[in-house]
Order: sequence, then structure tokens, then C-alpha cells
Amino acid sequence: MGNVARMIADIAAEVAFTRQMIGRDALDARVMEAMRRVPRDEFVPENLRAEAFANGPLPIGQGQTISQPYIVALMTDLIRPREDAVVLEVGTGSGYQTAVLSLLVRKVYSMEVIPQLAEAAQARLRRLGFHNVEVRSGDAHDGWLEKAPFDAILVTAAAPEVPPPLVEQLKPGGLMAIPVGPALGHQELFLIEKDRQGRIEEHAVLGVAFVPLTRGPEKAQRRQ
Ligand code: SAH
Repeated sequence: MGNVARMIADIAAEVAFTRQMIGRDALDARVMEAMRRVPRDEFVPENLRAEAFANGPLPIGQGQTISQPYIVALMTDLIRPREDAVVLEVGTGSGYQTAVLSLLVRKVYSMEVIPQLAEAAQARLRRLGFHNVEVRSGDAHDGWLEKAPFDAILVTAAAPEVPPPLVEQLKPGGLMAIPVGPALGHQELFLIEKDRQGRIEEHAVLGVAFVPLTRGPEKAQRRQ
């Protein structure tokens, strides 16, 4: 089995293993096809390329990580990405999740608080031909007002509470996937739905371990 085929099989196996928590036996075929098509080895540091298709997170520098493929696939599936959707991603990191989304929706806006990561991800996405993507360097606690509202929001760093501006910037009928919990401790992946009347419904999907949503690189450094 090739590397990519093995990664896809590992994702499917973990989905089946967690079926009761995530409420589905398999992920959407379009999502799995996007996972197959994005070359994950292009998004990890060169010395880790041999491990690029293993089903685990990897360090990407600046104390950050590229998420586990299963988690990327699951979160992408949870927000039900439609072809005409405009999506906000919080936490560009390597740009891998951004690339997966870009194959599925009309436009992806992605915010990254560490400028060096934002610049590297934008350049990488452009070089690899993911053009329906705009990366902005900055703290996403206030969302991206100029581009709001969004059909879906996908947050790839954990916050102790869901930042209210992100909920406000979700369209009626929109979905948000976000890990909620302390920086070091138990976090739950939540799916938040804003219905047509603007009512908010949320439910916990799965225990997860994400890097924290910070207020900026300086504060993150001071905390260590
Ligand atoms: N989606 C990424 C995962 C990166 S880890 C990938 O596929 O590679 C989460 C990222 O969120 C980190 O790069 C971190 O710097 C960023 N982040 C943390 N707090 C943030 C904030 N307030 N606003 C925007 N990005 C933030």
C-alpha cells in the first residue's frame, strides 16, 4: 500500500473506531477525496517528510503542530463544506487544513497569529496552486469582520471559551467546529450550529488535544 493509501485507510479505521462519539460510520466521500489529493509531505518540515503520511500530529516550528490527519478529516466533515461555501479557518499553521478546505469550498479565509507561519503558509499554498485562499496574519479572537459572515468556521487551536465574535460571524444555518478547553488539560471538540432563526446549539463530539488559541506570539512566549 502506498503512503497516501495507508493514511486514508488509517483515517477510515479511526472513524470506525470512534463512530459512537462522532455519530457516523464513515466521512463524506468528497472530504476523503480531498484528503487523498493534498500532498501532506509538502506541509511538514523537510526532516519529517518520511513521517508525513502517518496518522499523527507533527511539529512545524514556533512550538506549533500540523494536526493529525484523522482530526483534519473529521473537522472538515463536521462543517459540511459545500461547494459554494465561504469558510473561515482560525490557525493556519502549515496551511494543510486550509488546502484541504480549498478543494471543497469556494473561498477559504485563514488567520494565523504567528507572522512567520502565516507568510510561509501563504507562499506554500500559492506555490502548490491553492488559489482560492487568503491568509491573514493576526489574532483571530475577533474573527475577520471584513469577510464575514461565513458559512462555516473551523478553529484549529483550543480556547477556554468560544470567542463570541466567531459565533456572531457565522451565517444563519452555519456550522463551527472548535476545540474548547484549557491549554493543558481536557479539551472537547464542539460542533456549534446557528439555526435559521439565529439560535445556537452546541454539542461535544470528541476529546482532543490542540495547541492553545493565544493572544499573540509575545504573550505565548511569556507564558512559557
Ligand atoms: N490548521 C493547522 C494547525 C496549526 S496549529 C495546520 O493544518 O497545520 C494551530 C495554529 O493556530 C498555530 O499555528 C497557532 O499559531 C495558531 N493560533 C493560535 N492562536 C491564534 C489566534 N489567536 N489567532 C490565529 N491563529 C492562532
